[in-house]
Amino acid sequence: MTSDLTRLTASEMSDLLSRKEISSVELTQAHLDRTAAVDGTVHSYLHVDTAGALAAAKAVDEKRAAGADLHLMAGVPIAVKDVMATKGLPTTCGSKMLEGWIPPYDATLVTKLRAAGMPILGKTNMDEFAMGSSTEHSAWGPSHNPWDLTRIPGGSGGGSSSVVASFQAPLAIGTDTGGSIRQPAAVTGTVGTKPTYGGVSRYGLVALASSLDQAGPCARTVLDTALLHAVMGGHDPRDSTSIDAPVPPVVEAARTADVSGLTIGVVKQLGGAGYQAGVRARFDESVQLLVDRGAKVVEVDCPNFDYALAAYYLILPSEASSNLAKFDAMRYGLRVRPEGVDDPSAEQVMAASRDAGFGDEVKRRIILGTYALSSGYYDAYYGQAQKVRRLIADDFSRAFEVADVLVSPTAPTTAFPIGEKLDEPMAMYLNDVATIPANLAGVPGMSLPSGLADEDGLPTGIQILAPATMDERLYAVGSALERALVEQWGGPLLDRAPDLTAHPSAHPTADPKEA
Ligand code: GLN
Repeated sequence: MTSDLTRLTASEMSDLLSRKEISSVELTQAHLDRTAAVDGTVHSYLHVDTAGALAAAKAVDEKRAAGADLHLMAGVPIAVKDVMATKGLPTTCGSKMLEGWIPPYDATLVTKLRAAGMPILGKTNMDEFAMGSSTEHSAWGPSHNPWDLTRIPGGSGGGSSSVVASFQAPLAIGTDTGGSIRQPAAVTGTVGTKPTYGGVSRYGLVALASSLDQAGPCARTVLDTALLHAVMGGHDPRDSTSIDAPVPPVVEAARTADVSGLTIGVVKQLGGAGYQAGVRARFDESVQLLVDRGAKVVEVDCPNFDYALAAYYLILPSEASSNLAKFDAMRYGLRVRPEGVDDPSAEQVMAASRDAGFGDEVKRRIILGTYALSSGYYDAYYGQAQKVRRLIADDFSRAFEVADVLVSPTAPTTAFPIGEKLDEPMAMYLNDVATIPANLAGVPGMSLPSGLADEDGLPTGIQILAPATMDERLYAVGSALERALVEQWGGPLLDRAPDLTAHPSAHPTADPKEA
């Protein structure tokens, strides 16, 4: 029984727990056992909190036994991306800069998970400070795609996508600044949502680009994603950009899954040349399935989406260079004494520490952002990019006048081999060509599996986008499509992923994981 528990959906786990047919300790232990069996190979985690997770599970079991009125998700374990501050648990953001940092507080969404009684299994791997599309920029080595261990699981949240795809956790927290929830979901055959900007508190999320960052849910089904969205979302007075409104009715929408009468807009600019044939084929079939279920399809023109990547790679580095200035070796984090200097100045210590603490991609973006913001260039680069951002938001507004949701492939290709794009920043950046517009405009987006590409048999995803604050539409459409697809496949897509326990455990890099 124990090993089978990890194959259940979070929704099924919640049912069994509330009927007292299983305990949270059993469920949590089953996931920890699974991690012991496969994470040496997949490397989803940077830190596993065995004792903390089991203690939280035991506490919830005791409350249930005592007849307490518990949250729907009480007892369902979860993994958290290492970019969220977790009290008493290491938080490194995939960087040497924060090695050994134990936050003295919880991010708001972590507080919500704990309050709901969800045991936190551990912290998941990520590209350093969430910069990347593959997890290869993690200072602790890459995570691997459970479908093919030689390939990337997406990024920056490849730890969170692979942890759910390898059944080490039913749910995980991700963050999406330019696609880091959706692209990893697409390439691992899982589901992920970037909520409306401001829909989930950013308090305690170590900032990459504050105007773009949004935390969201990662799971294996649309309903599970909605269940987690409902736990983590909602207003937070500690985040001044947080929307002061209840969480949209995402769970109800996922359960109803009604698309009849909805108009689906296919974005002309996303999905053409440059997209792998198998990715496009599965996308077209998915759109057809929605039509079969009663939706209407139109093509929408969003001409400024062509400039989204260029605008993003000015806005993001600008904000990142400012946000990362706080890692100055004075207040917290890594401190390195410069070599061969007897009495170093504060500035020399800062320089040595930032040189040693940050990886190449982070340095690249700090330099780019500092340049774009410098006087004399500000108007030419950052100012222009902000204008393009407005035009992209206008494209969305016009598109949503004729369509209830927009759709596109989530990423241009399936998972690429580890190492393939590491030395080509531009090729890496292109992974997010379809996901970035949503971050620039603040609208919500979801990726769900659309099938396996014919060329390589690897998963690919469809992206759904909705107007700001109307996140429930993602779930209505996503859930309807998922039902149609699963019926066609004869079961969940992940049932076709390889059995990881048959692989020799061979993760080569050292990592700071607890036993
Ligand atoms: N891959 C994109 C980047 O490198 C998106 C990152 C993210 O969403 N955190 O910036």
